[in-house]
Amino acid sequence: MRDQSTELIHQPYTPPEGFAAPQPGVFKASTVFFPNVAAMRSREWKDKSAYTYGLHGTPTTYTLEERLCTLEGGLQCVLAPSGLAAIALVAMALLKSGDELLIPDNVYGPNKTFSEGELAAWGITHRYYDPLSVPDLVAKIGARTRLVWLEAAGSVTLEFPDLCEQVRACQRAGVLTALDNTWGAGLAFAPFDLSPGSAEPLGVDVSVHALTKYPSGGGDVLMGSVITREPALHLKIKLAHMRLGLGVGANDAEAVLRALPSMVLRYQAHDQRARALAQWCLSQNVFAQVLHPALAASPGHAHWAALCGRDSGGAAGLFSVIFRPDVDQQRVDAFCDALKLFKIGYSWGGPISLVVPYDLASMRSTWPDHLARGTLVRFATGLESVADLQADLAQALRLAMA
Ligand SMILES: *Cc1c(COP(=O)(O)O)cnc(C)c1O
Repeated sequence: MRDQSTELIHQPYTPPEGFAAPQPGVFKASTVFFPNVAAMRSREWKDKSAYTYGLHGTPTTYTLEERLCTLEGGLQCVLAPSGLAAIALVAMALLKSGDELLIPDNVYGPNKTFSEGELAAWGITHRYYDPLSVPDLVAKIGARTRLVWLEAAGSVTLEFPDLCEQVRACQRAGVLTALDNTWGAGLAFAPFDLSPGSAEPLGVDVSVHALTKYPSGGGDVLMGSVITREPALHLKIKLAHMRLGLGVGANDAEAVLRALPSMVLRYQAHDQRARALAQWCLSQNVFAQVLHPALAASPGHAHWAALCGRDSGGAAGLFSVIFRPDVDQQRVDAFCDALKLFKIGYSWGGPISLVVPYDLASMRSTWPDHLARGTLVRFATGLESVADLQADLAQALRLAMA
């Protein structure tokens, strides 16, 4: 008779096969069992044909990876513990000392910080290019350029670049393109098929997505993905991913799996609210500029219309305003503080609307000509009603500007 503790741990019951329910199960593991040593030696983890270790994949993470490939039109995916970790992974996998990368000046801020604070120390240099000028990008591609980051629309200021021409220019120069696709989310446009129906397929090499935003949808999960269509490129990223030990928790993966089915509907709802509120802000003379790619006067609008404007178009749930220069920082802060439904907080993609004032001067190499001077405030719409959100903006403006 074996000891009770042993009996409990090795209790032989296994439930019947064939359980089917709306949500896939959550498989949690560091250790994965092998039936024998031969299996341990022969199992391959790089191609998802088997399981070897929790870090290398479980049914939960494999399932999420495949669904994200479907969302973005890719063929391979790796998951990272945050969107920023996914960005860092791409650079670490594809660049080595002596290489240079190009970054749009309106890129997600921590991408700049990572390049300045880490890559530079490893001998990997970077240059910032004007996201609205393809000639500027072309001029900055040099003999050491290996990777070009793209982002559409750009973070905070939401300029929409000529993504197709940017990708063409990079392809001509033989440099890899990595798109931060968090805004488009696989819904506003297809990152691997930027000119659908054309004879020559056009797409980015790598799509990075902060799943923290719309795929999670709750403001309660941090995760990122790196999606590709090229097996050799994927393998490079996958090997770096394994060497760096970038795992994600199964409960978090399950949370994203649970939210994915409603993502299209949520994205449309965020989009509809942001467009309506951005339109309303245009009528408020306290704002010198309203930034939202679907507004005709917003920088890069024509590029947005060409890429995302088919059917109803997609434009996510973000917009920014630049206050008139005579509205000082104190009043802008008072406006943000006076908002009741819009909470003050970073990130976006959840049900609650958010607001952040940004110090643009500290974020850009130079203040771009296409942006008015003044304090910028970025809004991320949640799922509250347009009427209530608009009333909230109006009451906060009345209070702060009185
Ligand atoms: C939020 C965000 C990220 C980073 O995501 P985290 O999961 O918060 O690290 C990257 N890119 C863009 C455009 C983002 O908005």
